[in-house]
Amino acid sequence: MKIQCKCGEEVVCSSASQKYRWTRQEDWERLLDAVDSEIEKLDSDESKERAIMAIRYSEKSTEVWECPTCRRLITFNNSQVVYLSVEKA
Ligand SMILES: [Zn+2]
Repeated sequence: MKIQCKCGEEVVCSSASQKYRWTRQEDWERLLDAVDSEIEKLDSDESKERAIMAIRYSEKSTEVWECPTCRRLITFNNSQVVYLSVEKA
């Protein structure tokens, strides 16, 4: 499976190219503290908020890939693609 990143790069989403797997809730919380979440296909702030909450409480083992071009992290939540961009220090 390939995902088109926001930067245009096609990211191969396979277990071989998988960058991270979050296995613990606290890892997600650390991630969410460190990134700006960019959630696709959501319009209102309210639904974004719900999606972010859903990510926080989604299953504890989640595959995450990294775009080789722009370093966005790409993951899924309820079959929606979620982009996570790492803040520049
Ligand atoms: Zn990208």
